[in-house]
Amino acid sequence: MSLLVTDVGRLVSWAPDAPTTDAALVLDDGVVAWVGPASEAPACDDVLSAEGGCVLPGFVDSHTHLVFGGDRVAEFTARLAGKPYAAGGIRTTVAATRAASNDVLLASAQRLATEALRSGTTTLEVKSGYGLTVEDERRCLAVASSVSRHTTFLGAHVVPEGSDPEAYTALVAGDMLDACAPLATGVDAFCEEGAFTVDQCREVLSAGAARGLHVHVHANQLGPGGGVQLAASLGAASADHCTHLSDEDVSALRDAAVVAVLVPAAEFSTRSVYAPARRLLDAGVTVALATDCNPGTSFTTSMPFVVALACRELGLTPAEAVRAATVGGAAALRDPSVGHLGVGARADLVVLAAPSEDYLAYRPGVDLVRHVVKEGVVVR
Ligand SMILES: [Zn+2]
Repeated sequence: MSLLVTDVGRLVSWAPDAPTTDAALVLDDGVVAWVGPASEAPACDDVLSAEGGCVLPGFVDSHTHLVFGGDRVAEFTARLAGKPYAAGGIRTTVAATRAASNDVLLASAQRLATEALRSGTTTLEVKSGYGLTVEDERRCLAVASSVSRHTTFLGAHVVPEGSDPEAYTALVAGDMLDACAPLATGVDAFCEEGAFTVDQCREVLSAGAARGLHVHVHANQLGPGGGVQLAASLGAASADHCTHLSDEDVSALRDAAVVAVLVPAAEFSTRSVYAPARRLLDAGVTVALATDCNPGTSFTTSMPFVVALACRELGLTPAEAVRAATVGGAAALRDPSVGHLGVGARADLVVLAAPSEDYLAYRPGVDLVRHVVKEGVVVR
């Protein structure tokens, strides 16, 4: 069943040879089968009119923590009243997640994934990290696998209450990884004061890499530290957060081709300083934008909101922000099949109720998504 996408006001495809105006696309069998001038478009079984709206690749949200129980609205409200964020807040969600049944966790993750899809996110990475026992991490990853094909084992999120940090790290890199690796495509660790040291993160991430998992690091979020250098030395797919960076950190990311995943909604929600996105882009680092959706520090699934923040607070142009939110996210997940609309790409796209991507920054907080297409199927 082929679908012609036509009446496109502007096409952002990231495909070098594709037109940006008077363009049309043909989607067939879940992939982009043809892209070119509307006047040359072949006949198709069905037609989707963009009604003059801008067509973008579906957003690729490369960093979320969608599997959890409970919420942290009380902590959030306290923070609005001036209480600072500390990594230990994660333990509140760990207790609620352990207490939740598989069905409750799955229903909640599905609801959030659907919310994300309606705002244009067609690819979503989902981390574990609120179970922190072999069985709870395994069942969180089983839930993650049923909402996404990009799942990341984050047993090294925080040391559980009452555990010895070294013994817990050995468990994560040993039995927990054994149970979780078959359900995961990536491994991640929170390298931060109050979470895990550089050496502990290296132990977990190296063990994950040896199992063929893509390496991600929660790095340099709350202060300067060795997380980014660790990511570079391991050849990680991404270093995430990257808020506090030295010049050496920036060059290490560039030289090791590690994607910097920036999550401005977390800084917005915690009233923290924003990551130095301009420095990264100007140095030639590949930048991705993600929501960091989690119940503690960034409870949003909206990539349009993240794009607006990136323009307003990180100094990106709308085109740079959309690039980071699509092809940048795909690079962070090492998934070249998404984030662009070249021939052969997954047929994942967003039609905006606006003539260009500039409106995502120009009209913040307004739902500008007219249609969402995932694997060739119009889902909104
Ligand atoms: Zn995170």
